[in-house]
Amino acid sequence: MAIELPAPPPPTRDIYTNRTLNLRAIRAIGYDMDYTLVHYHVDVWERRAFEYARDRMVESGLPVGHLEFDDQLVERGLIIDTHAGNVVKADRFGYVKAAAHGTAPLPFVELRELYGRLFVDLRDERWVFMSTLFDLSLAGLYSQCVDLLDAGRLPGVMGYRDLFARVRRGLDSAHIEGALKAEIMQDPASYVDLDPDGPRALLDQKDAGKKLLLITNSEWVFTDAMMRFAYERFLPAGMRWRDLFHMVIIQARKPSFFTDSNPIFEVINDQGHLRPLVGLPQAGGVYLGGHAGLVEQALGLSGLDFLYVGDHIFSDVNVSKSTVRWRTALVLRELEREIEAAHDFHADEVELGARMAEKSTLEQQLAQLRLLRQRRKHRRPGAVDAPQGQIDAEHERIKQALAQLDTEIAPLAERASRVQGRWGPVMRAGIDKSHMARQIERYADVYTSRVSNFLFATPHVYLRPPKSSLPHDP
Ligand code: IMP
Ligand code: MG
Repeated sequence: MAIELPAPPPPTRDIYTNRTLNLRAIRAIGYDMDYTLVHYHVDVWERRAFEYARDRMVESGLPVGHLEFDDQLVERGLIIDTHAGNVVKADRFGYVKAAAHGTAPLPFVELRELYGRLFVDLRDERWVFMSTLFDLSLAGLYSQCVDLLDAGRLPGVMGYRDLFARVRRGLDSAHIEGALKAEIMQDPASYVDLDPDGPRALLDQKDAGKKLLLITNSEWVFTDAMMRFAYERFLPAGMRWRDLFHMVIIQARKPSFFTDSNPIFEVINDQGHLRPLVGLPQAGGVYLGGHAGLVEQALGLSGLDFLYVGDHIFSDVNVSKSTVRWRTALVLRELEREIEAAHDFHADEVELGARMAEKSTLEQQLAQLRLLRQRRKHRRPGAVDAPQGQIDAEHERIKQALAQLDTEIAPLAERASRVQGRWGPVMRAGIDKSHMARQIERYADVYTSRVSNFLFATPHVYLRPPKSSLPHDP
C-alpha cells in the first residue's frame, strides 16, 4: 500500500530557487535571528522603533513629537534618495520607476525631470537601500520629516542630507540603547509572531546531521530572551533552544563578520559576561564577534558546505555570497501576501496580456501604413497602388481601435500596478524586475517567505531553478 505523504505546500510557502541547491550536500546551516528565526509583528515593532527615534529627535530640539508611524508609506526594497528627500523604486537597471517626495507621490513630469538622466548606484552614499523590515521605521520617519522640513517647520536642519543623518542617529539609538529591547523582553507576546513549524524544521535539519549555527547581530540577553520565547515552547520537553545549535554567535557585526577578521570572545554566563577566547570556538559554545573564516576552521568545512539564511539582502546574503561564497537563502515575508495578491489578480493579468498583444499587432499595422504613405510620397519601390483615401481610412480605423484598446488597458494596468499597496510588489517595478529582485537573483541562491518553509521541503530536498526566460523565447 502506498504511504500517504504530505501534500506540497501552497505557493505562498514554497522555496524559490535561483541556483541549484542540494540541501543534502549542505553540512552547516547558519541562521540570522531577527526577522529570520524570529519574526516580529512588523507594525508593532517598527511603530515602537519609530516612536523611540522620534522621541530622540524631540530631545535634540526638533518639533516632531506629533508624528505617528504609518505602515503603508514605504516597503522593503525601496531606495532613499538622501539628497532630494525622496523615496524611489528602481528597476533592475537602476532606472527610477516611481518616487515620492516626503510622503507625497512625485508626479510623472517631475520624476522624469529629476531622474530621467540619473540612475541609482548603491555605491554612492546618496542612496540608501531599504534592505530589511527594520528600515520601514527609518524611511517612514524620514519621509514624514521631509514634509515638515519643506514646510519650514524644522529649524536648524540644514537640508535633506542633514535630516537623514539625524533620523538615522535617532533610529540607531533606538536599536542600540537598551530601552526599546527591554520593553520587548518585558512583553514578547506583543512583538513576536510565533511559528511552531520553525523549531520543527530546525530539529529535522539537526537530526539529518547538519550543524546549525545562530549568527546574529543582536546582543546576548535579547537573543536568549527571544529564542527562549519563540522556540522552547515548541521543542520536545526538556530541550532548550541552545540544544538546537552547534554554536551561537551574537553581536556578529555582519556584514563585517564576512569580510574582516574581528576578535572573538566567549560568553561565559547567562548575564552575557565575556572572556577572550584562546584557540578555536567549540561545539556548544556561545561567542561574541569573530568571523566566518574562524567558523569554517572550527567546523573543518569550507564555503560551499555552508548555507546562510537571513533577511538582510546586503549583510546576510550579498556579502556572505560575494566574500566567503557561502550558499545563501533570503527570507522575505512579504512574498506571502504578494503571491496571494498575484493569484487573485491572475484573471486580470491574462486579460491584460491579451489586450497588450492586440495593441502590439495594431501598432505594427499602423507602422506599416505609415511606411506605405512615406514610400508613395518619395516614389520608392514597394509603394502599393491602393488609393490614398483607402490608406488614410485604414490608418484612421486603426488609430481609433488603438484609442479604444487603451481605454480598456488603462484600468487593468492601473490595477496591476496597485496589486500591492502604493508601490506594487517588492520584486517588480512595472512590468520589469525591481532593483530588489535583481539583488535577490544575484546573491540569494534560494528565497522563501519564512524559515519554517524548510519543514515542507525537508532537509533532503534538491532545489532546482526553473528555466529562465529570455525575450526571444517562443
Ligand atoms: P540580526 O538580524 O539577527 O542579525 O539582528 C539585527 C540586529 O540589528 C538587531 O539587534 C537590531 O536591533 C539591529 N538593528 C537593526 N536595524 C538597526 C539600525 O538601523 N541601527 C542599529 N541597529 C539596528
Ligand atoms: Mg535579521
